[in-house]
Amino acid sequence: AAVCAASVYIVRRRMQSSGKWARVIEILRVLEEDCATPIGKLRQVADAMTVEMHAGLASEGGSKLKMLISYVDNLPSGEEHGFFYALDLGGTNFRVMRVLLGGKQGRVVKQEAKEVSIPPHLMTSGSDELFNFIAEALANFVATEGEDFHLPEGRQRELGFTFSFPVKQTSLSSGTLIKWTKGFSIEDTVGQDVVGALVKAMERVGLDMNVTALVNDTVGTLAGGRYYNPDVVAAVILGTGTNAAYVERAHAIPKWHGLLPKSGEMVINMEWGNFRSSHLPLTEYDHLLDFDSLNPGEQILEKIISGMTPNMSAMHSDTSPDLKVVGSKLKDILEVPTTSLKMRKVVVSLCDIIACRGARLSAAGIYGILKKLGRDAPKDGETQKSVIAMDGGLFEHYTQFSECMESSLKELLGDEASDSVEVIHSNDGSGVGAALLAASHSQYLDDSQT
Ligand code: BGC
Ligand code: MG
Repeated sequence: AAVCAASVYIVRRRMQSSGKWARVIEILRVLEEDCATPIGKLRQVADAMTVEMHAGLASEGGSKLKMLISYVDNLPSGEEHGFFYALDLGGTNFRVMRVLLGGKQGRVVKQEAKEVSIPPHLMTSGSDELFNFIAEALANFVATEGEDFHLPEGRQRELGFTFSFPVKQTSLSSGTLIKWTKGFSIEDTVGQDVVGALVKAMERVGLDMNVTALVNDTVGTLAGGRYYNPDVVAAVILGTGTNAAYVERAHAIPKWHGLLPKSGEMVINMEWGNFRSSHLPLTEYDHLLDFDSLNPGEQILEKIISGMTPNMSAMHSDTSPDLKVVGSKLKDILEVPTTSLKMRKVVVSLCDIIACRGARLSAAGIYGILKKLGRDAPKDGETQKSVIAMDGGLFEHYTQFSECMESSLKELLGDEASDSVEVIHSNDGSGVGAALLAASHSQYLDDSQT
């Protein structure tokens, strides 16, 4: 969306300076050409993604793709039970929730959640300020706990913490922040254990709770997706940020020197938002956006794909004959008081070009994962079902984006393979997923939970 805004801005400026409509049309034509993602290019991107996946798994720092080890070597089975909290921090909003898991008797028996928006200044000030705010919101939420959520005598509350930034995990319940993304920039958190930071803040507000699992939102979405569907092999977030996680064979991770898990599997948080390649269609506007960002040179794929605002989606879906919505958005966001219908049409075209590029590149990324897993084509005549659990605002609310993503994935897979790959929306998956992982790693696991 920011790319789109940048383009609009530049189109407007050039139009003002030259005053020639032909110039605008020419700019649009060049942009379309620069953003083109023909199928051959998508295949190149997918192949580059696969190559980088191998490199990132081979050695620490071996690739722009961090391929982070999640310490999740067992995904939910459906038997998880008990009462758990989850906290989901990742974009402009954060959510606190509690779930009652019924085990074999009935999965999620009860669930309550509260969304809290983060005051923007907390995204760029100090670590303590942010974590205090979070701990306070969590404490307020705990205070509203009703009778239905019964905690057995003498037990500490347990929490699954979804923290949607790149973290180098040191165990399932600890890890240090590698860097902030998505408009967050708080220097003193980088390199710190984020669970430690949360625990300290919880102590400050007098909240007694054990942080049992620390997970990325992709890992939470994967866990939440698998809980309901055994064929889920990967999860992708398309929203304020973008990323993917998938289930890898443990012996295909050379950089992993720990014990081989019993399951033989390990969930990998790819951090694909940081992917870049000469095959990516980057324009002068992308360079401007990157230059102006809080993290120049980083998260290049993310900056192409992600959307920080619903405005673009609203303009793109404007069906009124005079493009009223586009007009009023341009007035609000860009402070362009009046626009001609011709100009508003140009803006819709810009949205289409930028959204479609992002959607098609996300499809290429998913295809790259399927290739890495050998699930991009039927194996020995047999079809193995592969389900991708998806979440994020672009997927959920931006119809043109998600439709273009799904059709591009079909195009990449071809007729034969596309039947075996399914994309599903894992609503709320990351929060429930974190609670599920807290449940399966509960400190009381050996006790009876009833
Ligand atoms: C973060 C990822 C996260 C993704 C989606 C990216 O900016 O680096 O950790 O999974 O956003 O929330
Ligand atoms: Mg989220």
